[in-house]
Amino acid sequence: MARVVVVGAGFGGLAAAARLVRLGHEVVVLDAADAAGGVCRRVERDGHTWDAGPTYTLLPAVLRDLFRKSGRPLEREMDLVAHDVVREHRFADGTSLALPGGSRGAQVRAVDGLGAGLGEQWAAYVASYTETWELLRTDVLERRWSPEVGRTATARLLDSRATLQRALRRGLRDRRLRLVASHPFDVDGHEPGGVPAWAGVVAYLEQRFGTWSVPTHMATVTEVLADRLAGRGAEVRLGTRVHDVVVRGGRAVAVATSAGEVDADVVVCAIDPRRLPVLAPHVGATQPAMPPVVAHLGLEGDLPDLPHHETVIHGDPLLVVRVQPPGSAPAGGAAWTVVARGRGAEDPVRSLAERGVHVRPHVVTRIDLSPRAAAERWGGSPYGVRWEGRGTTRQRLGPRTPVPGVLVTGAHAAVGPGLAFVGLASALVAAEVPPV
Ligand SMILES: Cc1cc2nc3c(=O)[nH]c(=O)nc-3n(C[C@H](O)[C@H](O)[C@H](O)COP(=O)(O)OP(=O)(O)OC[C@H]3O[C@@H](n4cnc5c(N)ncnc54)[C@H](O)[C@@H]3O)c2cc1C
Repeated sequence: MARVVVVGAGFGGLAAAARLVRLGHEVVVLDAADAAGGVCRRVERDGHTWDAGPTYTLLPAVLRDLFRKSGRPLEREMDLVAHDVVREHRFADGTSLALPGGSRGAQVRAVDGLGAGLGEQWAAYVASYTETWELLRTDVLERRWSPEVGRTATARLLDSRATLQRALRRGLRDRRLRLVASHPFDVDGHEPGGVPAWAGVVAYLEQRFGTWSVPTHMATVTEVLADRLAGRGAEVRLGTRVHDVVVRGGRAVAVATSAGEVDADVVVCAIDPRRLPVLAPHVGATQPAMPPVVAHLGLEGDLPDLPHHETVIHGDPLLVVRVQPPGSAPAGGAAWTVVARGRGAEDPVRSLAERGVHVRPHVVTRIDLSPRAAAERWGGSPYGVRWEGRGTTRQRLGPRTPVPGVLVTGAHAAVGPGLAFVGLASALVAAEVPPV
């Protein structure tokens, strides 16, 4: 049995810990915050509840696998429900697209509403990622990437200079469709010119597998994982900031914390590795992706009609409105989260009004989080590494690091942020700790 110390009790740290405990290891999870879950947690005020971060996930199989491999199946703990519509896009020219998930045919029909023939153009763009997905899934996501074992085609993909910007220009003549395809990267703070073309596979995943939510809030996922850890004898120590990994005799033997050293046979870093001086030199010249402005709004009265769980209002600033699940507000009210990026993003309510979505008179409570406050509260960026060309792929650590005894997971180690990719990264970490 190895004694594993996991640094960070966000979804990445908890997912790795839950798997490792089930494999028979002694696990201690340390987090600087006063609650577990990282950004996957509830925020509550005046009878309203919001998910602080994720409101849906891609690849539901990742959560199902995690729950099955760490105890009871997910279905016995919570519902996970597919959305008919991935998100609604509203464009500056007044047109809109409610993009369905999980169906090529439904996407073709919906996209044709923007112009005859555009549906097939979109479907061809999405289909161009079919092989990319198979290569990434089998060589990078479901097992540790190794040039010795992985296919040459995957190495070529990872080394390619092709950018998402170029793929969009080639594959999508309609500007609105390019906005739809680049949205997941725009909202996370990336420039399409810095994003590798293969990362556009997200559009394929949305079409093929859809997007999924837990109707009692996505935070239920981390709450159940934390309970599961406690039930299996793992320790989650909150209010404990980790300053560094202690290396003696050439390998990790402990972590240095605000409450002294904590011994470890293996350390799993599930925070930004730049924050641990032992790992920082190995992260190369990468930067964290800057968080957006976030406003959680409690609303009442006759609200503008936003029929889908997520509405993207394109323009500058880019605005994303997420309607929190039913039951998130007192009777007759609603809870929305607005994510904003760009010019004038500091006041998302004003920016919404400028685009015809008037909610100011309906706001009964609100919580605002600036990018700086978010990075402080979350101990770094939950969006992981900023894409700056193909070199970023290689400079990302994980699951192994050059420091013996230290593994890495979380948004900074995964190929992208989000529960799906982080969940896959945590499974790789668990596979790296020698079995009991
Ligand atoms: C507003 C927002 C919306 C999002 N929406 C979605 C979505 O809809 N779907 C989706 O899949 N993804 C979404 N994401 C991304 C997703 O939430 C993250 O990628 C994922 O939750 C990251 O998990 P993590 O464990 O890597 O990091 P975090 O959740 O950031 O957890 C890191 C933890 O480490 C702790 N920590 C940091 N430094 C230290 C230290 N030195 N010592 C001890 N503890 C430390 C922090 O307190 C924190 O608890 C969203 C993110 C945000 C911010």
